[in-house]
Amino acid sequence: MSYDLVTVARYDSSIRAHIVKAHLEGHDMVCFVFDAHMIDLNPLVSNALGGVKIKVREKDAEEAIRLIQALEDTPYTDDNDEVIACPNCGSTSYYTHFNSMRDARSIIAFLIAFWTFVFPIYRKRVLRCKECDTEFDQETTKQLEA
Ligand SMILES: [Zn+2]
Repeated sequence: MSYDLVTVARYDSSIRAHIVKAHLEGHDMVCFVFDAHMIDLNPLVSNALGGVKIKVREKDAEEAIRLIQALEDTPYTDDNDEVIACPNCGSTSYYTHFNSMRDARSIIAFLIAFWTFVFPIYRKRVLRCKECDTEFDQETTKQLEA
């Protein structure tokens, strides 16, 4: 038995890809994650490989894309099941795990990494609003100092 697999989504890291895979499998869909181990070992090759890919059977592709889009459109909630929204404009559309460069520690870590050709030893992860570019803390939804 053979299947024609088609790529329905691509991600920078395997974490998000595995979340989507679990979501699709929860809807009784057979799916596979490709190139996750290569990109986890060396994230710098992510663009060269086309990212971590989610592949499904060709007949399931349309339904998989619909399920993935519904998952992407679901707003994040905090521990109290309240929707996390931008403290500046109220938008629920934002980048998660955005590497902030707005504090001195992040800038210093970047410069050290740049000059010594190593991975940054410190990266501050924040949420960044797609509407107004406000960066805010994931747990507290508190607006960070610009
Ligand atoms: Zn905003």
